[in-house]
Amino acid sequence: MCLVRVLAQNNIEPQVSVKITDTISAVTISAKEGQQIKILTDGKKILVNKIKFSKVHNGDSTYTVYPEDLEEVKGKDKLKILPLEPSNLIFVNEKPYRGEITLLISSQGFTVINSLPLEDYLKGVLPLEIDPQAELEALKAQAIVSRTYALANLYRRHNKNGVNFCATTHCQVYGGAEVETPTCNQAVEETQGIVITYKDKLAEEVTYHSTCGGCTENNEDVFTSTPIPYLRSVNCYEATDGKKWYYCGNSKVFQWVVKWQKEELDTAIENYLKSKNKWNDKEKFILKNINILERGISGRVKKLLITETSGKEFVFYGQEIRDVLNFNTEKKIGQKLWSCLFYLTKKEMGGKEYYLAFGWGWGHGVGLCQMGAIGMAKIGYNFEQIICHYFLGVKLRKEW
Ligand SMILES: [Zn+2]
Repeated sequence: MCLVRVLAQNNIEPQVSVKITDTISAVTISAKEGQQIKILTDGKKILVNKIKFSKVHNGDSTYTVYPEDLEEVKGKDKLKILPLEPSNLIFVNEKPYRGEITLLISSQGFTVINSLPLEDYLKGVLPLEIDPQAELEALKAQAIVSRTYALANLYRRHNKNGVNFCATTHCQVYGGAEVETPTCNQAVEETQGIVITYKDKLAEEVTYHSTCGGCTENNEDVFTSTPIPYLRSVNCYEATDGKKWYYCGNSKVFQWVVKWQKEELDTAIENYLKSKNKWNDKEKFILKNINILERGISGRVKKLLITETSGKEFVFYGQEIRDVLNFNTEKKIGQKLWSCLFYLTKKEMGGKEYYLAFGWGWGHGVGLCQMGAIGMAKIGYNFEQIICHYFLGVKLRKEW
């Protein structure tokens, strides 16, 4: 049991910076109607309601930043823009953000960075990382996992760009104030400063996925990393009267089937190999055999051997297997396989050869199963019980 909470360390909530745009050629920054934003440059303050920045090359290597009438911004490579009242929102191309904006200006264009307190950042993450309609206790569990993940990754991912995070799945998806919902905000506020620890240290490797499909996986069987004590395979069900009740059983991808006609699978594998420069032959890739060489403790495929008719062999490990066995849906060409927890069979139907994958779950399967967390919350478990179920031997600690 992990329900011992070590209280307050009196740490200070960190400020985080998030790169919210790629380099773009123009950007509009504004306040709500009747409000103002403050542009800081060389100790001067410029107050405006709305300002559009665009950039014009002067025909040589120099460029001019417009608005033309603002002499102060010319030649600057960095501008800080704040709302007049700290609690006001600031709009970037009409999208609202909390905190402050830094505009980086280069000959390539403008890059927009949003700086704000970590708790406010989480409010713009939570609704995009889990179903915002989920039960409050599941949202709280996700808030704690996202907070722990963010704190552990503050200086790990974008150090050389001078920001903490990007706004995509590479870090955590962040949508600013526009995506906030009252329940997700409540989940962040009611767990303020709470993080996951293991042996009194921040659990730096916490991770999550959509649906485990019945059982999570040991981290080393999915990622090429050393075993982490709290990332062990755990069951995602409870048994009553000899019947298993799966916590993530309500997920649309709890169980799935993917079907390829032989030629479709040939093309899917060829496309993947080409994208990795592993198949440069002019000839078409024709699959001879697929062999599952190794499975992890939960049954997830760990090592896969693909043999081409010419005799060429390709070995794949862990999550790459999902990319290799991609398939086409109505919405997406080259959708990666939902998970590595699957069986593969070959079948003849109507004179054609088919490959079928019968599988469970969606995602890598390590750490918190989000649909499982929602399932546990539905039958009355609280956020501590949920977190301690998926992360073995951890404790929660309030940092601020
Ligand atoms: Zn699960």
